[in-house]
Amino acid sequence: MHELSIVQSMLDICEKRSGGNQISKIVVKIGKMSGIEPHFLKESFDIFKEDTLCSDALMQINLVDIKIRCNECDKESLVENYDFHCPNCKSSNTTQIAGQEMYIEYIELKDSQ
Ligand SMILES: [Zn+2]
Repeated sequence: MHELSIVQSMLDICEKRSGGNQISKIVVKIGKMSGIEPHFLKESFDIFKEDTLCSDALMQINLVDIKIRCNECDKESLVENYDFHCPNCKSSNTTQIAGQEMYIEYIELKDSQ
């Protein structure tokens, strides 16, 4: 039920940023390691958006791939199948640099054509 509180705070942010205007679209970035289920997030959003400025808004989710930087050879690479070893030198001494984020990329207002 993590997604519910996220949706709640997203709606708060939307209301603040929109300046009281109706919102037509909200674009969200979600890292694949953020622990957030995009499907649940969308569902929660559709339930909670009723009676808010987002009531007609669509949610678009952009997934962010997991990325690591190797502390041995300094190479950045995408993580596949949750294997956090460096594909270049096989070291396990890596730092995750993307894939845990969760934020609103932008919102579109209804009459901002
Ligand atoms: Zn490496």
